[in-house]
Amino acid sequence: MKPADNAFAREAIEAKGWWGAHRWLVLRRLVQLTVLALFLVGPWFGWWIVKGNLNYSLTLGTLPLADPLVMLQSLLTRHVPERNAVIGVCIVLAFYLLVGGRVYCAWVCPVNIVTDTASALRRKLDIRGGGDMPRQTRYWILALILVLAATTGGIVWELVNPVSLLPRGLIFGMGAGWLVIGGIFLFDLFVMKRGWCGHLCPVGAFYSLLGRWSLVRVSATKREACNNCLDCFVACPEQQVIRMPLKGASKGVGPMILDSNCTNCGRCIDVCSKDVFTFVPRFAPNEANPTGAAPLPPQ
Ligand code: SF4
Ligand code: SF4
Repeated sequence: MKPADNAFAREAIEAKGWWGAHRWLVLRRLVQLTVLALFLVGPWFGWWIVKGNLNYSLTLGTLPLADPLVMLQSLLTRHVPERNAVIGVCIVLAFYLLVGGRVYCAWVCPVNIVTDTASALRRKLDIRGGGDMPRQTRYWILALILVLAATTGGIVWELVNPVSLLPRGLIFGMGAGWLVIGGIFLFDLFVMKRGWCGHLCPVGAFYSLLGRWSLVRVSATKREACNNCLDCFVACPEQQVIRMPLKGASKGVGPMILDSNCTNCGRCIDVCSKDVFTFVPRFAPNEANPTGAAPLPPQ
């Protein structure tokens, strides 16, 4: 059945009200904008709650946080990291290993606001079709940026990484950064649905590897109530992760979404008028896993 995109989420709004159908989206935007604001208020107003950027920061002068992908590239350039950077990476790794690596994408990364906007506009303008490529492409790009770091002795990816360019540009001026961010927006809008985050971004690919065993999951717990409106598929930035947990009961597939590319964005929860989806702890008992024993991630 083809979802009527113009009627997207209407059932959910009718059943649960506007807030019920947008709750996780609004919370997520608040978190993303707060994180961004924390980096901006220092340089803009001299309020140094956080010093640094998404690659390395020090909060209140005591809490270091560092991006593990940048650290990995840095190690490949044979640069010895400082003690604070190692501590910061350990904290970040522990957090994303527990709550899901791609939570970074949905709840922190500022580029997600750009790509979500392109996706929403694409839906509004009813732009269909376009290019396609394997979603695995992002892992090849991830491998490429690591090889580049090892062979050039520099973190080449950071010259064009939109995740770093966007906040840096808001502080120092976007300059050519507009080309990168605007290019991603136009690419997602006209060329490929969810093109950047869903197919190309090596940062998202890296964080998906971290999220493989994470404890916070979305589950189609009430999947028997699904009325096939398919709004969850329309809303989901990684719609391939939903199919089997939602529709695989006859094949013995459990309702928990174990694919590490689920970003825990909560949009499927928002837009479902039947409240099929919910956040659950990974070891929660369910129909396919009645004891709550550790389910294996998909191979
Ligand atoms: S895939 Fe990349 S650009 Fe998209 S939200 Fe994740 S880190 Fe940001
Ligand atoms: S399955 Fe739900 S929580 Fe996961 S990425 Fe898709 S919409 Fe977001």
